Amino acid sequence: MDAALGAPAKMADREDDLTPMMAQYFELCREYDDSLVLFQVGDFYEAFCEAAERVARLCEITLTKREDSTGEYAMAGIPIDNAESYIERLLEAGYRVAVADQVQDPDEVTGVVDRAVTRVVTPGTLTEDELLRSADNNYVACLTASGSDGDASADESGRAGGSAAPRADESGPYGLALLDVSTGDCYATSADRLDSVADELGRFAPAEAIVGPDAPVDVFDGDCMVSPYERTAFETDRARERVEAYFGDLALADEAEVRACGALLAYAEYTRGGNPDAGDIGDDSTAAVADPDGTTAEGDATAALDYINHLTRYDPREYMLLDRVALESLELFDRRAVHGHQGLTLVDALDETACALGRRKLNDWLRRPLLDEDRIAARHDAVAELTGDVTLRERLHELLDDVYDIERLVSRVARGRANARDLRSLHDTLAVVPDVEAALADAESKTLVELRENLDSLADVRDLIDRAIREDPAAELTEGGVVKPAFDDELGALRETEREGKAWIDDLEAGERERTGIDSLKVGHNSVHGYYIEVTDPNLDSVPEDYTRRQTLKNAERFVTPELKEREDEIIRAEGRADDLEYELFCEVRRDVAEESERVQALAERLARLDVFVSFASVAAKFDYSRPEVGADGFEVEAGRHPVVERTEERFVPNDAHFDDQDFFAVITGPNMSGKSTYMRQVALIAVLAQAGSFVPAASARLPVVDRVFTRVGASDDIAGGRSTFMVEMTELADILQNATEDSLVLLDEVGRGTSTADGLAIARAVTEHVHDEVGATTLFATHHHELTAIGDELSGVFNLHFETEREGDDVAFEHEVAPGAAVASYGIEVAKMAGVPADVVQRSRELLAESDADAASEPAVETNGHDASERVRVSNTADDADGDDRSADSAADSRLATELEALDVATMTPLEAMNALAELKESLDE
Ligand code: ADP
Ligand code: MG
Repeated sequence: MDAALGAPAKMADREDDLTPMMAQYFELCREYDDSLVLFQVGDFYEAFCEAAERVARLCEITLTKREDSTGEYAMAGIPIDNAESYIERLLEAGYRVAVADQVQDPDEVTGVVDRAVTRVVTPGTLTEDELLRSADNNYVACLTASGSDGDASADESGRAGGSAAPRADESGPYGLALLDVSTGDCYATSADRLDSVADELGRFAPAEAIVGPDAPVDVFDGDCMVSPYERTAFETDRARERVEAYFGDLALADEAEVRACGALLAYAEYTRGGNPDAGDIGDDSTAAVADPDGTTAEGDATAALDYINHLTRYDPREYMLLDRVALESLELFDRRAVHGHQGLTLVDALDETACALGRRKLNDWLRRPLLDEDRIAARHDAVAELTGDVTLRERLHELLDDVYDIERLVSRVARGRANARDLRSLHDTLAVVPDVEAALADAESKTLVELRENLDSLADVRDLIDRAIREDPAAELTEGGVVKPAFDDELGALRETEREGKAWIDDLEAGERERTGIDSLKVGHNSVHGYYIEVTDPNLDSVPEDYTRRQTLKNAERFVTPELKEREDEIIRAEGRADDLEYELFCEVRRDVAEESERVQALAERLARLDVFVSFASVAAKFDYSRPEVGADGFEVEAGRHPVVERTEERFVPNDAHFDDQDFFAVITGPNMSGKSTYMRQVALIAVLAQAGSFVPAASARLPVVDRVFTRVGASDDIAGGRSTFMVEMTELADILQNATEDSLVLLDEVGRGTSTADGLAIARAVTEHVHDEVGATTLFATHHHELTAIGDELSGVFNLHFETEREGDDVAFEHEVAPGAAVASYGIEVAKMAGVPADVVQRSRELLAESDADAASEPAVETNGHDASERVRVSNTADDADGDDRSADSAADSRLATELEALDVATMTPLEAMNALAELKESLDE
């Protein structure tokens, strides 16, 4: 953390002669030295000195000056009413923002008002609706390495726990915890290898992370704000205590997980204004927590986080693994969609959800497709039933449309930050539940029946809210208009007094006109002088004795009578007391509702699932998806489509996919733009959809359970990154070679393109052989290296597919239709022509191509004799094949190469080592 972010440097030498308010400000800055402190002064949040300059610049507000007895300070203030939009800017600039609210009523104290930090706004712990995207969760992560126990000394190099058995990775096992503070969703998992940690981070894409001592920070990507956190929070005992306080006595056996989870909860408390641990975050003076409208919720930060009560402990191996690279290249989410078909991502294409609960659940299911065949089938059952029943589907959609984001709402309730409108929204959502139950009355699939039977409409809570809270309550909580008078006897009496008083005043005008004979006499009210009787100047003579002058106007005088004054005081007293009472009653109701947050969360979860089922079914019906059978031995997809491309193409050409034990590795050739990449991704997306529980865009599909999808896109297809692309490509390849299994689906798209042809081909071949011989994963390999198609003859599992093109004279038209066998030519020049490259350039290209073809004819021709051509760059298996080969010089070189190659352990080499090794091999070949 950038220390002293908010603490102005000047303060040290002025400390002695500060005014009490400024002393308070600097004290808070010191306490929250990793944040920018916003300090409430009346209707503004102020920053002073250097922090003021920063805030003024980032928020584009005026820098002003404040003068007091001790001197002059720079000052910048943002209006509290509109604070969130400014806070957002500060977050975007990479700051944490500590909000220090006044926790005393200025009218009730003499001297300086107390302030306390009521929340620290950080990118990963947002709860403000204004700052959150409703369609997705917002996670903060916490990572610990085995050496992270605060008890352990840092130089005990990662084995501090002593209990850890030797692991594949130096400082594993790692504990990873993730929390969405806005919903209370909490996950914990552990991993032996840093790779797996990276994969899980790719899945959840946390906005922020805290790390324990010794935990690596380079595993997080650039979008994630990473900071080390209090060592003490990671101590096993402390962490365990905290975990148990939230989640009960559950068996979180894994120490690394306990530490990660405990520290994360401590951090969450810290952001809610708690001071969870000593250390440089500050002392333990726990101030009362207040919210901006003056609400003072008793209890500490822990109580405010009560709704975090359910921990999902998971093993990454329970879900299909989609790492960051796969998520990006399959364009599942819009997070950083680079390619995007007209900006459409998979989740967009599939999102027919009715409410925010469902939208987040859809994201979650796509992020974590299942591996368990029964669970997958159970989801398909529900989708099938809803697909077949339009009436039911539409009815449910309509009902779910009225469901509020009760998950985030109930967390606000628990934190004491919900207003009366929130409670009314909760009520309205609960009111929908019986209708949902009724709609599902005839449901037959086990999944839907279970869902219906477990729907809790929280009738008690709904009734309480309905009795207590007005239908159209005020947004403010302290000025009345919130609680129904009938809810409480005292409140009812007070409101009645108020009403009677006002009625008496309403009648007063007529009465006084009659009494005084002044027809123009008026009774009115203004906020400064209260009630008055107004008499115009010509009538002043008729004013009775008991009138007292209150105010003189240009042509009239205003009076009160003792009786009017008395009534007025009565009204004011009753109103004031009633407003206060309403607020108290409201807080009571809110607390009662908070008690039930677990039930509300359980309901939210079920409504969310139902919404996703309905969404899956709507998409299936609308776009003609079919129910996949998951658990087969291979892929058998008839007329499959790409779920996103088919939406943007006028005419999408469906394609089959067949993979089994015999033929599991397809080398796919065809010209640019013929549909190779689309085809490969479509196979993967069909698998992802099926395992997420959705139907799939195909006439029919039998699929295996895929444990992981690997996608690697050749460097030339990924210029956007601006990284050393070849390096990236090789790193990713190494990952596949190390981690793919027989059950994985591997997509290799033009791998080996980011280097010279010979290198590229060599790598492509070596990878093919390794995946084929050692891994056995279902693989689709699109390549422009036609030489690779020859492998099909040599390796039993490899077969060729190609995309057809139709020549019309000199032009080509793409049919986007996949067919068995290898493509015969590259249509690059025709594509160039189609793209508008000038005719003379196209012509010249043809001539050059003809020349190089003629040259090639003197060597073994690629198309007819690919086998020989590729022999030169064979990378393994050479020893076998070289048997009985008597082209002595070549084969001597070959076998020397083979020996050298065999000695290389590609799987453990760094990309740089691999490149160097390749360069050496090439050199030795040239000798
Ligand atoms: P390649 O990888 O062979 O260069 P792509 O898969 O990127 O080709 O496809 C190029 C374009 O062709 C896609 O953006 C899409 O618009 C279109 N396309 C691909 N496959 C099909 C298909 N099956 N039916 C219709 N259009 C397709
Ligand atoms: Mg492509």
